[in-house]
Amino acid sequence: MSDAAKVPGRDEAILVAGARGMVGSALVRRLKAGGYARVLAPLRGELDLQDAAATRAYLQREKPAYIFIAAAKVGGIHANNTYRAQFLHENLAIADNLIDGAHRAGVQRLMFLGSSCIYPKLAPQPIREDSLLTGPLEATNEPYAIAKIAGVKMCEAYNDQYGRQYVSAMPTNLYGPNDNYDLQTSHVLPALIRKAHEAKLRGDAEYVVWGSGTPMREFLYVDDLADACVHLMARGYDGPLVNIGTGEDVTIRELAETVMDVVRVPRPHRVRRLEAGRHPAQAARCGPPARAGLEAPGRAARGHRARLSRLPGPVRALSPRFEELSHARRGRRPCAGHPPHPSSS
Ligand code: NDP
Repeated sequence: MSDAAKVPGRDEAILVAGARGMVGSALVRRLKAGGYARVLAPLRGELDLQDAAATRAYLQREKPAYIFIAAAKVGGIHANNTYRAQFLHENLAIADNLIDGAHRAGVQRLMFLGSSCIYPKLAPQPIREDSLLTGPLEATNEPYAIAKIAGVKMCEAYNDQYGRQYVSAMPTNLYGPNDNYDLQTSHVLPALIRKAHEAKLRGDAEYVVWGSGTPMREFLYVDDLADACVHLMARGYDGPLVNIGTGEDVTIRELAETVMDVVRVPRPHRVRRLEAGRHPAQAARCGPPARAGLEAPGRAARGHRARLSRLPGPVRALSPRFEELSHARRGRRPCAGHPPHPSSS
């Protein structure tokens, strides 16, 4: 293996940007469990990744052997569609500051995390990496997707022009510890868990889920994503773009019913479906209308047999800690001036 392809040793510094987030914290856990002794995990208060000068200075000083870019402004449909300017601006800045900063600091290898939302709205299913930029994006999350696509293209351009080995990984929908349970900014699964939990506490007769319940979505436990990412790093994988998923989908209705079982919402409470169009966000999905999965189980890991945890096991494991997790989560404040969002897809 050439010097350029050298993988980080257990004693070399590895930077996890966004280490307090769901993905970042899973990467830190996985790296530490794997014996990587120098995991750099600066919090936002120590390093604001929107500050180009501070980010460059940090990278020049620390010169990590590898960087995972798990920092981003992330949210569900409502947040993506409401804070369009912020999603575009902040994610562009984070990608630019870290990727260009890494190059200037001589960092040869990094992994940029994006999302399956970057693919065209009507990309053939299951989604393949070569679908990128082949059609219009889902309108509601277009600014976020554009910023992430810019990050992917930066990695490619720095590889082409400077011989760097910057890879982009696109996970499917994730869930797990440190997820965001704020109904105004969360993704579908934590929103369903919280809604079920609160419905149970209130003794509601019904567990209301907006939408038809028919869209299909794929979910990956975040620790499995971390396994795949660290495997790719250790194996010296240097691109290009790679999808990370399980290849198995569930309908939103099945998901809601699983969550009801896990959260132990007593029967005969039931999921009430609302007709299409009853809620403005109903049609606003991240991805195609019927099915939203990435191609082939474990494809991303290219030979790595990821432990593909499936529902309901990991949700079951997560559920008893729901209250603890939701209260412990980083003091994330609701977005001011917006009512709770009854998201379902
Ligand atoms: P989180 O919101 O949980 O974590 C994002 C992290 O980025 C937070 O720790 C946040 O800090 C940090 N961050 C944001 N802006 C800054 C900044 N300016 N300076 C320093 N830190 C900053 O997101 P996830 O872990 O869910 O997502 C991480 C990546 O994985 C994203 O790129 C996302 O697109 C991708 N992904 C996520 C999926 C999901 O289902 N969650 C699905 C597919 C991809 P703070 O804690 O201070 O807010």
